Amino acid sequence: MEYLSSRVKNMEESATIAMAQKARELKNAGKDIISLSLGEPDFKTPKNIQNAAKEAIDSENYFSYSPVPGYLDLREAIAEKLQTGNKIPCAPENIVVSTGAKHSIANVFLALLDAGDEVIVYTPFWVSYIEMVKMAGGVPKLLEGTIDQEFKATAQQLEEAITPKTKAIIFSSPCNPTGAVWSEEELRAISEVVLKHDNLFVIADEIYEYINFTGKHASIASLPEMFERTITVNGFSKGYAMTGWRLGYICAPLPVAKACSKIQGQFTSGSCSIAQRAGIEALKGDQAERLKMAEAYRNRRALVKELLDEIPGLKTPMPEGAFYFFPDVSAYFGKKFGNQVIGNAGDLAMYLLSEANVSTVSGAAFGAPKCIRLSYAASESELKEALKRIKESLAQLK
Ligand code: PMP
Ligand code: GLU
Repeated sequence: MEYLSSRVKNMEESATIAMAQKARELKNAGKDIISLSLGEPDFKTPKNIQNAAKEAIDSENYFSYSPVPGYLDLREAIAEKLQTGNKIPCAPENIVVSTGAKHSIANVFLALLDAGDEVIVYTPFWVSYIEMVKMAGGVPKLLEGTIDQEFKATAQQLEEAITPKTKAIIFSSPCNPTGAVWSEEELRAISEVVLKHDNLFVIADEIYEYINFTGKHASIASLPEMFERTITVNGFSKGYAMTGWRLGYICAPLPVAKACSKIQGQFTSGSCSIAQRAGIEALKGDQAERLKMAEAYRNRRALVKELLDEIPGLKTPMPEGAFYFFPDVSAYFGKKFGNQVIGNAGDLAMYLLSEANVSTVSGAAFGAPKCIRLSYAASESELKEALKRIKESLAQLK
């Protein structure tokens, strides 16, 4: 395939999607696989949102191209949510709706980065950030938060990592993969560092906003002077169980919003019209189902923590948000099953797939090679069975 571009040849495949694909293939081949690899709600999209999409189709009013940054009434609903729920002083003009938050983030990197510009990526990071930065010509610079720091690098570490080439910093809170949540105080400390540097932007990925067990979500864009320095990313996939609808958005300073819209105007046009109509209902309609799903994640989190704590050798912090556990599994490195040696987290994830029939993702994909990621967006019975199998398989390693 030497004819393919070096751009794509230098790109890693998404590890979350690759592992999910592997699990799907094994399942299709008749194996009893429990998939804890893909971060995807196992709930159905709430009925009121489904109905809004059906009504949009039946009205026959939404079959044409939508405005590139999204329908005005959707952007108004998003701006209203961000003003009242997140205290972000925005207007509909600051909002650009895209085909999933993944697409939103890609737009932002394309809008901000010139060749060689650096992006500080809080590590552990969500897999796609690195490849997106590279694709846009930028250079990802990892800023590591250790397990003892609850995986959150300090503002002091950030200060030390900034160079004249730093254009942006990115993190997710609640964090995929660690479940860490940045408090308002921690965000304030970050903002103080950022405001010392001209033209330095924060990309705040808040896609797990509604799956937060601390009871308080803080948005850095709401802090003094930070609105003009922050691109807030959010979407519908996680909180409203709408992964397949492909609907995400940014709230950004006007020049960035306009730039993203310009990029989108050449690449994709406005996102799916029907999904956008459903998005309005998601934001403005009854929130009961969303709250119920968040409560289910809370219960599952307690269950999985209890079961993981029964497994010797794992170091398992309690996540404060999102729907992942990210245990340190390095105590098993160097152990063997027959001739099979577990050299690293990737080997362990493959071992669990073949021996326990449970799919997980190696922490290496997230910049944390001692850990593995387990999604607990699965039913309680699946989680119990998966954790039982993991425990038994790990006990076989000597
Ligand atoms: N950011 C993070 C941290 C995620 O985990 C995901 C999950 N896919 C996304 C962004 C992208 O979400 P979407 O489905 O809206 O593209
Ligand atoms: N964000 C989810 C995950 O981390 C979905 C997969 C993806 O988009 O990479 O598993």
